[in-house]
Amino acid sequence: MDRIDAAELEAFAGTLLQEVGAPAATAEAVAASLVEADLKGHTSHGVLRIPTYRQMIADGVLVPDAEPTVVDGTGDSATAVVDGNGTFGQVVGRTAVDALAERASEHGLACVGIRNATHLGRIGEWAEAIAERELCFLSFVHTSGGGLVVAPAGSTTRRFSTNPITCAVPTFDRLPFPLVLDMATSQVAHGKLDAAEADGRSLPPEWAVTPEGEPLIDPGAMGSFREGDTWGAIRPLGGTTAGHKGTGLAVMTELFAGLLGGGPVAGQRDPDAWFTNGACFLAIDPARFGDRERMADQVEALVEHVRAADAHPDVPVGDAAKGEELLLPGEAEHRTAERNATEGIPLPPRVIEQLAALADEFGVDGPFGE
Ligand code: NAD
Repeated sequence: MDRIDAAELEAFAGTLLQEVGAPAATAEAVAASLVEADLKGHTSHGVLRIPTYRQMIADGVLVPDAEPTVVDGTGDSATAVVDGNGTFGQVVGRTAVDALAERASEHGLACVGIRNATHLGRIGEWAEAIAERELCFLSFVHTSGGGLVVAPAGSTTRRFSTNPITCAVPTFDRLPFPLVLDMATSQVAHGKLDAAEADGRSLPPEWAVTPEGEPLIDPGAMGSFREGDTWGAIRPLGGTTAGHKGTGLAVMTELFAGLLGGGPVAGQRDPDAWFTNGACFLAIDPARFGDRERMADQVEALVEHVRAADAHPDVPVGDAAKGEELLLPGEAEHRTAERNATEGIPLPPRVIEQLAALADEFGVDGPFGE
């Protein structure tokens, strides 16, 4: 797989985004977020999204030059709602993070609802931005009734999106990265099925289910976000053994995001419509709860405790990253980013093909070589 320099990829992505209608500052912010997702190993949320964003612009769902609005409850309250007004989610995410951090620092804890955010991308980015300010973070993200691909436990019918839950805890200079759990509440994020299809891989039987209730092995039989429920469905987190837990998390995510963000929940909108992210972002200032050094010691003690467990070579970790030692939440992304920053970002051939075609169309030079 070709590796591409991150700075070159970011400049190229920014140019393409301007070509599809984004103002320069917006294009720069979106390109930075997409390339950061690629750096961290989440190709499914990286530059491969640009052709989809272009289609969303053409369909009038994404308004590239719109600006998000902060709707403030009572002026200096601990809560706010950010209306993305249909602009790029990466711009909405920045606005929401700033509003959230400001309020959490002022009040000790804060909550920001988000609606009309198109695609917030890799939610871990917003979690990391809050944790870097030494605040704790928790979020619930839904797709406002569109793009449903996940079946509840005991069903084959698409009823939820992959509704990620994300939490982060600062590590008070004791680790070079914050602890970030950033996960879909389904067995896998949708992008991992697309990646399997592109690579010609079969799906593990625990990932998805056919309309007949059988394991869905061929990712090509899954259908896209926009093909209703006549196709397969991703199973809820916990699969066939504990899928009720993933279903419960999906229901709660749908309601936290929908109630506090104000966008429609699943069932209130045509499921074939484009997804558009809504969310609830929460932040807590740990400084209000005690001494920084005590918390730093607690983080370090827990990390050492986990790392001291044996990393047994025969115990599988499924789809998770596997290291020589046990990994903590957010560590795989940190390590991958360090490697990709020096060696370049590995982009699958199909992604390069799509972006090179877009570059040709706009007469833009790509960083892909011959
Ligand atoms: P994943 O399964 O790749 O990782 C989930 C979590 O597990 C991460 O926090 C990771 O650091 C941690 N992890 C990985 N390997 C580990 C190990 N060996 N030990 C301990 N922890 C480990 O994530 P996912 O569920 O496939 O989601 C992928 C991305 O998709 C996320 O960034 C998420 O925000 C994004 N997403 C976005 C949307 C949206 O609508 N915007 C929807 C769904 C998912």
